[in-house]
Amino acid sequence: MLEDKGFIEEAIDPKMKLVEEINRLKKEKNAVILSHFYAEGELQDIADYVGDSLGLAQAAAQTKAEMIVFVGVHFMAETAKIINPSKKVILPDLKASCSLAESAPADKFAEFKAKYPDHKVVTYINATAALKTMSDIVCTSANAKQIVESFPKDQKLIFAPDKNLGNYINSITGREMVLWDGACMVHEQYSVEKIIELMDEHPDAEFIAHPECEKPVLLLAKHIGSTTSLLKYVQKSDKKKFVVATESGILHQMTKACPDKIFIPAPSADSTCACNDCSYMKLNNLQKLYICLKHEQPEVTLSNEIIEKARIPIQRMLEISK
Ligand code: SF4
Repeated sequence: MLEDKGFIEEAIDPKMKLVEEINRLKKEKNAVILSHFYAEGELQDIADYVGDSLGLAQAAAQTKAEMIVFVGVHFMAETAKIINPSKKVILPDLKASCSLAESAPADKFAEFKAKYPDHKVVTYINATAALKTMSDIVCTSANAKQIVESFPKDQKLIFAPDKNLGNYINSITGREMVLWDGACMVHEQYSVEKIIELMDEHPDAEFIAHPECEKPVLLLAKHIGSTTSLLKYVQKSDKKKFVVATESGILHQMTKACPDKIFIPAPSADSTCACNDCSYMKLNNLQKLYICLKHEQPEVTLSNEIIEKARIPIQRMLEISK
């Protein structure tokens, strides 16, 4: 059942105060809840730490809790497990995957890598643990430039799996990294024409974007950065209105931090879809979080071999990003 569904199905008393129960279980089990900025607002609000992939990896490395509950997607929980092999890591729904991580199956990537024997591999954290075992270093969107620049200029590099972030880093570092052809389904769906139209309707707004977006979208942006960088930018800016090209969950933190400012999700090519919502992230909800804490399942497990090999490039990143 758990394998089929990805989570344990259980009826919950509608009168139950879920937030109180989650907090009680968390204390009882000495657990910490880590949430990504892309989770639903109510999940971000119950978490002990909310952040981007770099912040979450750092928080996972520092926690003293015995159990980590990851409100995010599978590769993030895997990263927490790799950093904390002796701790139990649980995820409300095992099916919370990532289109970007899925775009780079380990066997196909191994064939690709074999074509470039003199290249080192920089892997964006949005990748499976198996891919990380084939990497020299991991990076996030917050530290990708710094990580790439930590290699000598003449060192040839492969960047995987996000071609858009790789392209962007090539453009700001002058590198010519070989790129794996992967992308995020949320960040690829923005429409340049509709963004321009929207900006014409809101001439007082500023357009900001995550570097997982495609180049024509990034060319329109006043500021490009990780979710943390976008959040800091809107807090510091004198502007009162922003059009934001990244997953919609970040608007929760932006609105909390700047209640007097207006945040508009960037428009998609398909105006009928909820394309700014990552369908994987949104598999998490309060009910599943409660059941997962109660049963301490689904648990994210990895073989010792994968943990040992994948930890090396993650630790290198954490050392450089201290
Ligand atoms: S928003 Fe994109 S990169 Fe992030 S988890 Fe969802 S599919 Fe993956």
